[in-house]
Amino acid sequence: WWSNVEMGPPDAILGVTEAFKRDTNPKKINLGVGAYRTDEGKPFVLESVKKAETLIANENLDKEYAPISGVLDFCQASAKLAFGDNSRVIKDQLYATVQGISGTGSLRIGATFLAKFFPGNKIIYLPNPSWGNHTPIMKHAGLDVKSYRYYDPKTCGFDFNGAKEDIEKIPENSIILFHACAHNPTGVDPRPEQWKELSAIVKKRKLFVFMDMAYQGFASGNIDEDAFAVRKFVEDKHNLILAQSYAKNMGLYGERVGAFTAVCEDKDEVERVMSQIKILIRPMYSNPPVHGARIAAKILNQADLRSIWLKEVKYMADRIITMRQQLVDNLKNNGSKKNWQHITDQIGMFCFTGLNQQQSERLIKDFSVYLTKDGRISMAGVTSKNNAYLANAMHEVTK
Ligand code: PMP
Repeated sequence: WWSNVEMGPPDAILGVTEAFKRDTNPKKINLGVGAYRTDEGKPFVLESVKKAETLIANENLDKEYAPISGVLDFCQASAKLAFGDNSRVIKDQLYATVQGISGTGSLRIGATFLAKFFPGNKIIYLPNPSWGNHTPIMKHAGLDVKSYRYYDPKTCGFDFNGAKEDIEKIPENSIILFHACAHNPTGVDPRPEQWKELSAIVKKRKLFVFMDMAYQGFASGNIDEDAFAVRKFVEDKHNLILAQSYAKNMGLYGERVGAFTAVCEDKDEVERVMSQIKILIRPMYSNPPVHGARIAAKILNQADLRSIWLKEVKYMADRIITMRQQLVDNLKNNGSKKNWQHITDQIGMFCFTGLNQQQSERLIKDFSVYLTKDGRISMAGVTSKNNAYLANAMHEVTK
């Protein structure tokens, strides 16, 4: 039956890990995959997560199905985390929130909902570049994908003018996607004043906003600061949709915990929208897994666990920020005359080093430093032990 099926290419990011595993160089470093590592290079299970799991185990809960929309107190707590307790969206209950299969699944619910119900142009504009999975997620759901300028290779920073020019030209009633914070793959975020301007332009152009917030807390170490864009757009009365992930900020990668929210005009709209989201979810996976959502709900809703978690998010963000600074210092100590300021200007899990494909390939081949060919490194894989080795390798290939 399947003789017509051609071999597909390996996943660009997961392929990096495969190559890393085959390498026998003891100095090898994997900076491909976006998962947090401790300063010893080990995966990190948060203390707040372990405590929540113990509490849950002691509750002897059953394993019945969750509703189609998932664990209710998880959904409510997720909306509060994103919009803030004092938001009109929370106070007036203007959110239709369902549990999704982490960020990816939540994006997919949103894309499917747009493909079926969005009354305008079924075209979504993504930043250029964007997370590699955005395009296939949107296309699978049936949306057309276009892009707007975002990253400026000359400054390794945000192309604010380019973004504004392009967004000004997007046809009215189209959809635009923003990374709420810690843009992947570039680590480049608009500043608060720039977000304000973007919100105004988007409003003027009558565009509909899809926010992807996969790193709340992970960028600055502060969950409110990282929610600035989402909250500003809501304050400016954009009835946006939002995908959230707890993969990074709670380290719940494999538990697949996320949420999808549509901000609605009134309660009647919430109910109508909610009913249709459930109709879309039912034939896809019926209902989501409960364990991870119970953990996240416990952490978000129980004050002592929440305060431990907030410290842990900050700890992870701070370690990454420290590694950025050390990397720049080490590059200078190695005699590099290049301007590496973008490494500390950028934020979140990833750093777009500015290395071109040839230089990135040399890092892999000559130094066993594994990264994606676009020059993106995961800062989470950098430790105080491998930082100097990495800096030396980066200096050697950019001389
Ligand atoms: N959006 C962005 C921008 C991401 O970087 C990621 C994680 N790589 C996700 C969504 C979703 O990841 P997950 O499905 O693991 O939550």
